[in-house]
Amino acid sequence: MSESGLNKRLAQIVGAENVSTESVDLLCYSRDASENVGMPDIVVWPNNTSQVSEIMKLANELKITVTPRGAGTCLSGGPIPTKGGILLVMTRMNKILEIDIANLQVLVECGVVWQDLNNALTPYKLFLPPDPASKDACTIGGCMAECSGGVRAVKYGTFRDWALGLQVVLPNGEIIETGAKTRKGVSGYDLTRLFIGSEGTLGVITRARLRIFPLPRCRLVMSAYFDSMESAGKAIFRVMTSDLIPSAAELMDKQTVEAVSKFMNMKFPECIALAIFEFDGSSLGEVKRRIRQARKLCEREKATRVDVSETVEESDRLWRARKSAGPALATLKPSSMHEDATVPTSRIPEMLTRIEQVAQKHNVLIPTFGHVGDGNLHPIILYDERNQDEKKRAKAATADIFRAAIELGGTLSGEHGIGLSKAPFFSMEHSSPETEVMRKIKNAIDPNNILNPGKIWAGA
Ligand SMILES: Cc1cc2nc3c(=O)[nH]c(=O)nc-3n(C[C@H](O)[C@H](O)[C@H](O)COP(=O)(O)OP(=O)(O)OC[C@H]3O[C@@H](n4cnc5c(N)ncnc54)[C@H](O)[C@@H]3O)c2cc1C
Repeated sequence: MSESGLNKRLAQIVGAENVSTESVDLLCYSRDASENVGMPDIVVWPNNTSQVSEIMKLANELKITVTPRGAGTCLSGGPIPTKGGILLVMTRMNKILEIDIANLQVLVECGVVWQDLNNALTPYKLFLPPDPASKDACTIGGCMAECSGGVRAVKYGTFRDWALGLQVVLPNGEIIETGAKTRKGVSGYDLTRLFIGSEGTLGVITRARLRIFPLPRCRLVMSAYFDSMESAGKAIFRVMTSDLIPSAAELMDKQTVEAVSKFMNMKFPECIALAIFEFDGSSLGEVKRRIRQARKLCEREKATRVDVSETVEESDRLWRARKSAGPALATLKPSSMHEDATVPTSRIPEMLTRIEQVAQKHNVLIPTFGHVGDGNLHPIILYDERNQDEKKRAKAATADIFRAAIELGGTLSGEHGIGLSKAPFFSMEHSSPETEVMRKIKNAIDPNNILNPGKIWAGA
């Protein structure tokens, strides 16, 4: 079918105003927050599930590739259309359909932005706990497709742990509903969790039913400064293996602290590493007791200074600073690769040492921060795309970091997904028979390989 013929058919489904081949749109949707680039042939903005279904039926009939996209904050190239085709922007399906307080759950369309959902829940003193740092922009559909986490995953888990069910449009246009409204459910295979983390390769998620939770009455944040990464790593390990159960346990190295300080115009004490802990609960006395215990554990590991935020505003300011770490570091060099190699928590100190060794070996800057309480580190490899030698060294460093994570019993990705960036390394972690099972699932659901091809494992 000619390009204008395809335009016409899509315009009949969604309306001409919701289809574009303007170069400004194609360019705009050719990138996400990673280093990857790929141009779509046509951009489409559906408004409801039946439109998505019609689009998929058409694409399947014509064997045109479709790449679903939320807000495009992905750090691994997931929403990049590698083979052109249709770029399906899901942000207009952004209604909160139901807030069911009696059953502590919500039903939302996939384009709802995380922060908008939580703003709607605050008056009921409820919240959706997994909180990606991109929460002002990222959509629930994107969070489901990536199985996103965030700082509170250490206590509350990731999106996988909060999903009850999904509405999904399959590559052939069929609409299915997975899961149940109940807290428990073992009726058949767990299709909900098959689609969560599938990075838009198995189906287009159009709705999600999610559990929600009472907002803790109190939250206090403690910052502990250290003059070595090793001491910080040990202190975090001590807190994590105690009965104090922090709702966040984060780490920033010296380079990250300095970059954030400049970016946010905030002053931090001199340190090699900064550990940030949050404790939440229903009584201030109880939260303060846990903070006192955590302080003792940090001091035992030679913290040079420990501060506790006295007010919610102070805590929020610190969280804003921590969540600006990625953008702050990205200002240091023209290009960056944001990794999320994850290791078992007991191996964190070793992983931090390995990252330092990789930076020295390849002579590249690799500031590191992350959700260290659940073993999820974010080493940021900084380089200049125009300097071929530096780019080569940065790529070699990235491969070494993945190798180190796997050797320490970890994984390529804790929360950012494999996408395009990590696809060449997939076989480092997964055996051929395991990958073959994944391929068979993909082939069974998407025999024409039209949905987000080229992601997760190279050549998909
Ligand atoms: C500054 C910054 C901070 C971040 N912090 C975190 C963090 O703390 N924790 C974390 O986990 N991630 C984080 N991320 C990564 C990213 O924000 C998350 O992965 C986010 O959930 C992606 O949502 P999105 O709406 O932007 O999806 P997109 O980037 O648009 O898409 C992501 C993937 O999901 C697929 N997809 C999108 N919508 C659908 C749908 N409706 N159906 C099927 N597939 C779909 C796409 O094809 C793609 O593969 C951060 C990113 C940035 C830029």
